[in-house]
Amino acid sequence: MKRIILTLSLSCIVGCTSWAQQIKHVILVSIDGFRPEFYQEEQWGTPNLKQMAKEGVSANGVRTIFPSVTYPSHTTLSTATLPHKHGVYYNTTVGENGQPGEWIYDSKDIQVPTIWEKAKEKGLTTASVSWPITLHNAFIDYNLPEIWDFDRPMDRITPTKLYANPKGLFDEVMAQALGQIHYNQLNLSSLAMDENLGRSAAYLIKTYKPNLLTLHLPNTDGAQHSEGREGKEVARAIAGADKALGNIWDAVTQAGLAEQTLLIVTGDHGFVSTDFSIAPNIWLKEAGLLDRAFFFSTGGSTVLQVKNPKDQKIVEEVTKVIRQLPERYQAMFELIDQSMIRARGGETKAKLALSGKLGYAFSNQTTGEVITTSKGGKHGYYPNFHEIYTGFVAYGKGLKAGLVVDQLNLEDIPVIISTVLGFNMEEAEGVYLPLFDSKK
Ligand SMILES: [Zn+2]
Repeated sequence: MKRIILTLSLSCIVGCTSWAQQIKHVILVSIDGFRPEFYQEEQWGTPNLKQMAKEGVSANGVRTIFPSVTYPSHTTLSTATLPHKHGVYYNTTVGENGQPGEWIYDSKDIQVPTIWEKAKEKGLTTASVSWPITLHNAFIDYNLPEIWDFDRPMDRITPTKLYANPKGLFDEVMAQALGQIHYNQLNLSSLAMDENLGRSAAYLIKTYKPNLLTLHLPNTDGAQHSEGREGKEVARAIAGADKALGNIWDAVTQAGLAEQTLLIVTGDHGFVSTDFSIAPNIWLKEAGLLDRAFFFSTGGSTVLQVKNPKDQKIVEEVTKVIRQLPERYQAMFELIDQSMIRARGGETKAKLALSGKLGYAFSNQTTGEVITTSKGGKHGYYPNFHEIYTGFVAYGKGLKAGLVVDQLNLEDIPVIISTVLGFNMEEAEGVYLPLFDSKK
């Protein structure tokens, strides 16, 4: 009965919001490390974002997932589910030695259907540029996946050519839109990366007019890792991403699609400026527990990994060690229990994590000083405070102009996209939020 009511109310939403029905194209842009301040504060040079927020719909914050890291967050955006369903808990696998293992990049590692798959089922065309975990995704008609050469990580051009779908697509984009770029113009050493990714997306929009296009712009993340939330490079990076957005909307207009396109700009997490790094594995080592469990850092948080799943007592023992630390140490982080991990969809088997307070991050170190200096920025924190929330701007015809939503959840965004484009995400954990005016 409940399901029937839900279905009816959903169809009513779609039926009632007829401005949404004219939308045939959705462009989802993720600016890595995107924060609401970038369109809400005067200081940032983001004329496109500010205008889009003013004329469209924006949010004061988007609650992300746990841990608030790039690949799991992007997979929530591409599946409408939290990590416990989509199966991507971290950017990498967790190595036996407690260090990050292999990056997760192949789409086979996602356990639920993606928005591209569901869009294809509906007969829509799909495209993607630099979106995490899209390698070998058979449901993206025009795909330039995010990938780099594992031996020479600065080279993204060679593997992008290799894994582009259809074959030859990146050569075509270079020939028609980018020119013969050097590999440093497509990696985090230069703001040319976002510029070239934006141009690639603009080319695909103009040439192939896909119904759904996803684009990931990484430069703003790189700048905030180096400088924290307020640096000069952060200002340059977000201005560069903003310019890419302007180019993309120009491409939409030139393609004659402005009346039927919804552009959503969001991100994967916010950022916290840090001064210090904590190495909790040193406490476990001192307590003689490190051979049974270790903390695995995501940057802003660290998640306890138990070596033997049958070891029932270890979580309790580690919790006791943490609780018995001097108050001064305990003031540096929040203890995240199993129910909190579950609430934002964290790793199914995880029972304990620590999330840093403002200014604090974590390392995997097992030797040396417990507290070390760590100037810059981190994410990965438990998403229960504003700094770690990402942003949201929706732009297009028929939106409730100037509406500012206080908060939405990351998993709501793909549900908005699927509802507007007319397909269902059956596994979705997000909800549809009506952002369009009713047609009179
Ligand atoms: Zn990120």
